[in-house]
Amino acid sequence: MIPFLDLPAIQLRQRRALHEALDRVLDRGWFILGDEVAAFEREFAAFCQAGEAVGVGSGLDALVLALRACGIGPGDEVLVPSHTFIATWLAVTQVGATIVPVEPLEGCMTMDPRQLEAALTPRSRAVLPVHLYGQPADLAPILDLARRHGLRVIEDAAQAHGARYRGRRIGAHGDLVAWSFYPGKNLGALGDGGAVTTDDAGLAERLRLLRNYGSTQKYRHETVGVNSRLDELQAAFLRAKLPLLEADNAQRQRIAARYLAGLAGHPRLRLPEVRAGAEPVWHLFALRHPQRDALAQALQQRGIATGVHYPLPPHLQGAYADLGWPAGRLPQAEAMAAQLLSLPIGPTMTLEQADQVIAALRELA
Ligand SMILES: *Cc1c(COP(=O)(O)O)cnc(C)c1O
Repeated sequence: MIPFLDLPAIQLRQRRALHEALDRVLDRGWFILGDEVAAFEREFAAFCQAGEAVGVGSGLDALVLALRACGIGPGDEVLVPSHTFIATWLAVTQVGATIVPVEPLEGCMTMDPRQLEAALTPRSRAVLPVHLYGQPADLAPILDLARRHGLRVIEDAAQAHGARYRGRRIGAHGDLVAWSFYPGKNLGALGDGGAVTTDDAGLAERLRLLRNYGSTQKYRHETVGVNSRLDELQAAFLRAKLPLLEADNAQRQRIAARYLAGLAGHPRLRLPEVRAGAEPVWHLFALRHPQRDALAQALQQRGIATGVHYPLPPHLQGAYADLGWPAGRLPQAEAMAAQLLSLPIGPTMTLEQADQVIAALRELA
């Protein structure tokens, strides 16, 4: 059996270090906004080549607080990919702003920057590119358009820990970068967690206020904040795990390279494309096949687990029924939802296992 992602094995590699992290927090007896969070924020910011990191409760909260820190709310429009995990959309909805969907590029599957200009209105306030599956979105034209039109750029990097764009890590290309440490991400906690990174000290200060009841001094509340803090225990676990991230990403890159070489030229498989200047970290390896469901079933019978990311685009979810957007409204996102299949990939997977997946696909696809 080849699992889709062997999450238990990933944690158990570090049993000793994780127990030590727990003991450190227990011995200190301080659980919210203490030394572990402060240290992790420094270490993660350095890793991301960003000036600052602010730890928050989840990836969704990181997006919501980033939007709020930029003052985005009702009446404002935010350009988001039509093809993404629904959290990207939910964040915009949560602050009361309006979603303006932008269709994906066919090969790289990230937001198509050529479609941005036509989607702008006088109410446009921000662009929210997603570094989907671990591949950086095409940031240069997005940043250029944002500069020309006075828009904020908030990046959803929940799948892109360690990815590089034009040689520089994802972390502060745009104004604010939102991260998730959900257990299955490339850098995952043992529970929920998130962060925002930035080079803008003023925005970082605003985020620190918002995440902690709008307060910097106990019982003084300067703004209507929320309770969304990365906790000491998760920060301690993340500090134990961060040193492994580069090697873990390198193994993902080796597996992706194996897939790309081993499946090249297959008549029915559409492989993911990597754009020039992008160094993806392969959170997922998602390819397309016209009979996706039958292929997934056949692979399952061979003992190969796969996933679908994602089977239904946000605009066709019950959550967005109010928009009244019918099927056919965002055809590229819909075609991807129908055809995408994610192959097993992860830091504890071996190249021999990748070869077994390739052999099965060559026979079954
Ligand atoms: C996981 C994910 C999120 C949300 O992160 P949580 O920590 O689960 O809230 C947001 N965007 C993308 C693209 C994700 O993959």
